[in-house]
Amino acid sequence: MKWIHKIVIFLVIATLAIVQYYRVSGNRVITAITPDKYEFIATSDQVDRGVSISQLSYENGQYVLNCELKESEYPWPYCGLSIRIDPDITTGLDLSQYHTFRVNIDYHAEADSSGRLRTYLRNYNPAYSVPDNEYTHKYNGMEFSPGVDGGVIEIPIKNLQVMTWWLADNDIALEHSAPEYSNVNMVEFATASGAKLGHHRIVIRSIEFEGSYITGESLFLILLFVWVGTGTVFLLSELNSSRKRMLIAEKRHYHLKNVNRALREQNFEFSEMAHRDELTGILNRHAIRDWLKMQSQQVKQGHGKLSMMYLDIDYFKSVNDKYGHQMGDHILREFSMVVGSSISATDKLVRWGGEEFIVFCPETDLGEAQRKAEKIRLLVSQHLWVHGDPLTCSIGIAEMKQERVTETIARADEALYQAKHSGRNQVILSH
Ligand code: GH3
Ligand code: MG
Ligand code: MG
Repeated sequence: MKWIHKIVIFLVIATLAIVQYYRVSGNRVITAITPDKYEFIATSDQVDRGVSISQLSYENGQYVLNCELKESEYPWPYCGLSIRIDPDITTGLDLSQYHTFRVNIDYHAEADSSGRLRTYLRNYNPAYSVPDNEYTHKYNGMEFSPGVDGGVIEIPIKNLQVMTWWLADNDIALEHSAPEYSNVNMVEFATASGAKLGHHRIVIRSIEFEGSYITGESLFLILLFVWVGTGTVFLLSELNSSRKRMLIAEKRHYHLKNVNRALREQNFEFSEMAHRDELTGILNRHAIRDWLKMQSQQVKQGHGKLSMMYLDIDYFKSVNDKYGHQMGDHILREFSMVVGSSISATDKLVRWGGEEFIVFCPETDLGEAQRKAEKIRLLVSQHLWVHGDPLTCSIGIAEMKQERVTETIARADEALYQAKHSGRNQVILSH
């Protein structure tokens, strides 16, 4: 299995598992505001020169606030409860990922009040807050009716608003005017603005916040990012490996091309070598085979003529003996040159072996061949040879009849033999 298949299978399983876990409540995070962890403080309008009395007592594991709302020069008498998150007022809870404010509060009002309470989530932000002036800590708030034995009330945090009087009194800039829960340092409850004078009793049963580790949207984005990232990595690696494969193929292509060229050159050289006599550079027996076959065919069909001269250097052995084998080689090369220069372009000079040569003359009858042979014989005998001694050759001539070409060659050889026996340096015809 390729690595990408393993990764895709893993991602499919992981995605399904994460989505399922997300759906089945794995995403819930609860922060409870309990008396054992946080400080509960009674508040009242006395700080604003009011005379209302607010008293906090701890009964059966829950805080109870007893309040006497009294008339005074302060126009909006109130009492309330403030929960401090940390002794350091600048430190609070980050509730920005929380969506629900869940409270279970009983509220008794002696007189015929609206039954409503105010709640504030106060946020400390050095951009607009100062530590020793609590009034500068943002009021994210709303009113609600807890009732008596009303059970748990769920307040969507998004329903809370920043109090307009707070914005106005503190001259808050526009960018800080929205609700903010990144550093909530106090959770507060207070009697509502229209609360009637008299006795009020607030029992705090429970307070908690519920949030999400991650929103559905963020989870979707993360999963999308992981899938797109994996796809991109896969594409890049595929691109890279196909580029590598292409480079290798290109390299192999060039290599093959070079090998082919070298082979062609070598073949050419070999075929040349196979058709040329190594010592003299003139044609050898192999080179003439096909040509001879073709020529003899034509002769047999009565379409042409073919004569041949069988040449043999006279007393060549004595050249070797006298001047050495190397000088013998020189003479053989010189002999090829001398004979080659005297024949026509269509004639073929072949080194038949040792110091024996055959000149094949197409479209040449015996008489014509004889003239050519005499010319050669004379040229050889008059040539000034490299070793300084005179040199002659004997020549046997035959014209092909209705016979095999080898028979014609044999007749020419026979004529040569006769020339040798007749004293050498002469031309003998085979009729
Ligand atoms: P004849 O007149 O009867 O032809 O006498 P000859 O000496 O030419 O004849 P023979 O056949 O006895 O000798 C041929 C000599 O040619 C023998 C051999 O050493 C020599 N020979 C054959 N091939 C080569 C060659 O490639 N190089 C050299 N240097 N000598 C060669
Ligand atoms: Mg010989
Ligand atoms: Mg000889």
